[in-house]
Amino acid sequence: MTVFKRIPAMKRLLSLALAAVVTVACHAEDKPSTSKPAVDTKTDKVVKTDEEWRKLLTPEQYRVTRTAGTERPFGEAYEKFNAEGEGTYYCVACGAELFTSKEKFHSGCGWPSFYDSSKAKGVAERVDDSGGMHRIEVTCKRCDAHLGHVFEGEGFKTPTNRRFCINAAALKFVEAKDAKPELQSLEQGKKNAAAARKADEDKLK
Ligand SMILES: [Zn+2]
Repeated sequence: MTVFKRIPAMKRLLSLALAAVVTVACHAEDKPSTSKPAVDTKTDKVVKTDEEWRKLLTPEQYRVTRTAGTERPFGEAYEKFNAEGEGTYYCVACGAELFTSKEKFHSGCGWPSFYDSSKAKGVAERVDDSGGMHRIEVTCKRCDAHLGHVFEGEGFKTPTNRRFCINAAALKFVEAKDAKPELQSLEQGKKNAAAARKADEDKLK
């Protein structure tokens, strides 16, 4: 009889142990060690958890750069982009140089357009077959932020006949007369994001 009595107790123990394992596993997935460096020195890639990106970026910047979102065309950020003069466009997520005003051109598509990336070669390209379309996605080489897509052979009178169709939310513009930003450290990024989030919230008020 004692054997039969023990079975439910053992079952309880087993399920408790299983629950503990599952909890630990889920936890590990959600929150990898916080001691992870912000920049992986081997690949020179910015490594951050999803949670950290959410803290660093405004909701719109996060949606575009980390979930491959697309901003509304002809929006406020695009108007601002059109009005910008000479300068450099950096990755909003990590501060890597991506484009300059030299490669900027007016395509009329409603998103920032460049015919090439800057000499810094900070832009990566990869095939994107999502949504039933064959496109070339462009990302930031340093942090894998989604930037937009590149289209070819559309007949624009530019040196490359390519159109980098970029979300303004993924770009940080710095005027030529201003000092270029330092590559974003975690601490600096937090401050920037807090300021940008506040600006977003003020706009909603
Ligand atoms: Zn980046």
